[in-house]
Amino acid sequence: MPEKFDVIVVGAGPAGTSCALVCAQKGLNVLLIERGEYPGSKNVMGGVLYRKQMEELIPEFWKEAPLERPVIEQRFWMMDKESVVQFGYKGLEWGVEPYNNFTVLRAQFDQWFAKKAVEAGALLINETVVTECIVKNGKVIGVRTDRPNGEVYADVVVLADGVNSLLSKQLGFHKEFRPDEVALTVMEVINLPKEKINDRFNLEDNQGCTIEIFGDSTKGNLGTAFLYTNKDSLNIGVGTTLSSMIKSKMKPYDLLDYLKTHPMVKPMLAGGESAEYLAHLIPEGGYRSVPKVAGNGVVVVGDAAQLVNAIHREGSNMAMHSGLLAAETVIEAKYRGDFSESSLNLYRQKLYDSFIIKDLEKYKDATHTFENNPQYFKEYVPMMNKAMSKFFTVDGTPKRDKQKEIMKSVTAERGTFKVIQDIYRAWKAVK
Ligand code: FAD
Repeated sequence: MPEKFDVIVVGAGPAGTSCALVCAQKGLNVLLIERGEYPGSKNVMGGVLYRKQMEELIPEFWKEAPLERPVIEQRFWMMDKESVVQFGYKGLEWGVEPYNNFTVLRAQFDQWFAKKAVEAGALLINETVVTECIVKNGKVIGVRTDRPNGEVYADVVVLADGVNSLLSKQLGFHKEFRPDEVALTVMEVINLPKEKINDRFNLEDNQGCTIEIFGDSTKGNLGTAFLYTNKDSLNIGVGTTLSSMIKSKMKPYDLLDYLKTHPMVKPMLAGGESAEYLAHLIPEGGYRSVPKVAGNGVVVVGDAAQLVNAIHREGSNMAMHSGLLAAETVIEAKYRGDFSESSLNLYRQKLYDSFIIKDLEKYKDATHTFENNPQYFKEYVPMMNKAMSKFFTVDGTPKRDKQKEIMKSVTAERGTFKVIQDIYRAWKAVK
């Protein structure tokens, strides 16, 4: 192992591997360090991988990557105790090239992806924990690992160590994240024969479906549940911000048990066998929680930089794109021979010019608005269900009278002024 590399990337998740791949493709001497037994062994994701950002890195990756199903349908459920209001989109165009997105199992996908970085020339070292950055004269010059004599040096260190980035915290780039800035999610992979999945979700072999579930899935607290189809398994999970969990005294695994036995969900899982149980944090602080992302000799990418759009459950794509932008910056810095903070701040600029920060900025108030106003999930979801039940029940009442009754019951339950205020507040949070 050479003593000094051009780039050390810490963490072989989507962010780190993207950065390592692009740097290696440009001939840089790259060391990719992963603490897991292999890339993906410690990684958790509901499972939707977005085609666009992946294709920027590996054109037509779907021809060889270990993918589960192309997603052709996205459903949204507003779920009450014994009913659900549904909407969504199904399009066959998403089932053919170039596709829109795919379900994946991270243990397989991350391994394959990291292999691509290795084939491009990166050196991957597994089962190695980076314990701290080595700083000299205010500049990061390498990392210390848990291996004997495990100090390695580089012009630039890329921190892609995920949501709990201890390394950027040690550098003072951010404080300990608050409980309202992270969500705890638990999920289970449930094996089910593909014929059953196809029948239950109305799919063909090479078609997938995602369902995002709001309302009773989190017992009315801020958060969502999900149910995604793999080839012959389902991913089911539920998560809420840590602050919601603390306030409501909910336990994540109790919520998952509750979800699995919910009458709207249970039939979809019937006969399935639990294959894996996983828990992980998701950074959900959004725009206001993005830490410092560039310093002397160091940049921060992916979850470590809080780059997740929780409203659209986009995280892997932001991780990959930030990895790409960091790689471009490092390559330019190498050309200039300047790895100072002002030089690497080009990465920050690229990030802020990209869809990543633009989208986070759009939803900057969303999480806190919905967390501080529990009526959206606790009151409006049951109200929507009752309204739909009333509207679609054929009982001889004229439809105009039904509409009036529905409006009356909504305003009676919440008050006209409050309803108008809630609509305005929600619109402001997502506009
Ligand atoms: P990670 O994927 O967390 O990778 C970090 C890597 O760094 C890991 O391999 C870890 O082992 C390694 N590491 C950490 N510390 C060290 C260290 N000190 N030394 C060496 N290695 C280290 N996103 C989507 O796009 N679609 C979804 O459907 C989706 N669903 C999700 C569901 C759940 C339950 C969760 C938890 C997240 C979900 N996300 C989803 C978010 C997505 O998983 C993340 O945004 C994405 O994985 C971030 O990639 P990353 O490379 O930044 O971090």
